[in-house]
Amino acid sequence: MKFALLIFALIFSINKTSAQTAGDFTAAWEKQHFSKILPSNLRHADLKKQLDELKKLELKIEEVGRSYANREIYQIEWGTGATRIFMWSQMHGDEPTATPALLDMFAYLQNNRAQPWVKEMEKALTIRAVPMLNPDGAELFQRRNLQSIDINRDAQALETPEGRLLKKLRDEWSPAIGFNLHNQASLTTVGKTPKQATISFLAVLGNAEGKTNDGHERNKRICAVMVSALENFIKGHIGRYDDAYNPRAFGDMISAWGTPVILIETGALHNKDEQFLVKLNFVAYLSALKSLVDKSEQSANPKIYDALPFNNSGNLFNFIFRNASVVNFAETSEPFTADVAINAERRRANESVPTYIREIGDLSVFSGLEEFDAKDFYLVQKNGLLRIGASGECLFYKKTRKIDWTAADLEKTFPPDAIFSNGKWTKDTIEVKSKK
Ligand SMILES: [Zn+2]
Repeated sequence: MKFALLIFALIFSINKTSAQTAGDFTAAWEKQHFSKILPSNLRHADLKKQLDELKKLELKIEEVGRSYANREIYQIEWGTGATRIFMWSQMHGDEPTATPALLDMFAYLQNNRAQPWVKEMEKALTIRAVPMLNPDGAELFQRRNLQSIDINRDAQALETPEGRLLKKLRDEWSPAIGFNLHNQASLTTVGKTPKQATISFLAVLGNAEGKTNDGHERNKRICAVMVSALENFIKGHIGRYDDAYNPRAFGDMISAWGTPVILIETGALHNKDEQFLVKLNFVAYLSALKSLVDKSEQSANPKIYDALPFNNSGNLFNFIFRNASVVNFAETSEPFTADVAINAERRRANESVPTYIREIGDLSVFSGLEEFDAKDFYLVQKNGLLRIGASGECLFYKKTRKIDWTAADLEKTFPPDAIFSNGKWTKDTIEVKSKK
């Protein structure tokens, strides 16, 4: 009986080894993710503290360079295998999702070395990652580094210390695969659909002629593995990044220098927070790496990657008010009918998010993440002039009311029925037409 149980346990554990699914990775992340700070709130000082914590797990972490403002840039290393994997995040300072996802991945791998599949991975791969390549940009929550140079356009000129460091780390080690980890605009859509591209992939070619090679074909299969894993959670929300060759960009040049790159661009998903996106990244990385170890990558279908719709932009807004009667009371009392679209800016989670009027007129061909039917309302911009670029603060008056639009202090004299201010209803709300 005891023997039978042992056999059963053994078979069960072997099955577990070969069958780490996307669901298992998600459950693992939910149970034991290491990073607790939302990515956009993570400062360089926080990163340093978190790396100190990871060092206590005996992870190999070293300072490999300094930013323009002399901030430390670190590299984490895990595994002893022959296949070299190189990952870097936050080359753009305001694109933070992958940074905590990398920390979570290393903490998870290190804490679970007793698991057979992790043991196998440790023997097969050596993974190096630079979390937060652009700490100065991260501190200011801006794309560029402190020289105001876009590091991802510095692959030839190498005028940024961060760009020089990235090239040096690649050249000295010649990894087999590079993972270039970014965030894309939250309103990026999958093809012509109004669906947000929550994650987009690109197997980078690295040449202007569009010539493929073994590394590129392998990376397409790895992308297919990640797509299949993520479809469990965000089906229809996965896009393919535009693959126009750019000789100034690191993704292209690192591929050209001999390390074929996979670009992962994290977008957003309405009503899901940043931690959800971190989890998706964690699942994607582990699925990709595991497929290299158990060789399942070799039988993955690259057509899954090829079939991804290309990213699109400009079709989706954060908020659309439909058929409003707009009154520019600073100029005239005459209303006109229009749809009005408002977008939110990219900010840290703990900062207030400014919104701006982005489109006015017939917006019937566009979608909003949140749409409101304003046909029974006058819509006035707080300052009396609805213009592209004006702040997204709007007052709503029921059209049944008699309003003297020339009143000196309109908001006080005629209190609005509803107020929409920087993405929120601060007073009442009008009917929600659709919510995606
Ligand atoms: Zn970027």
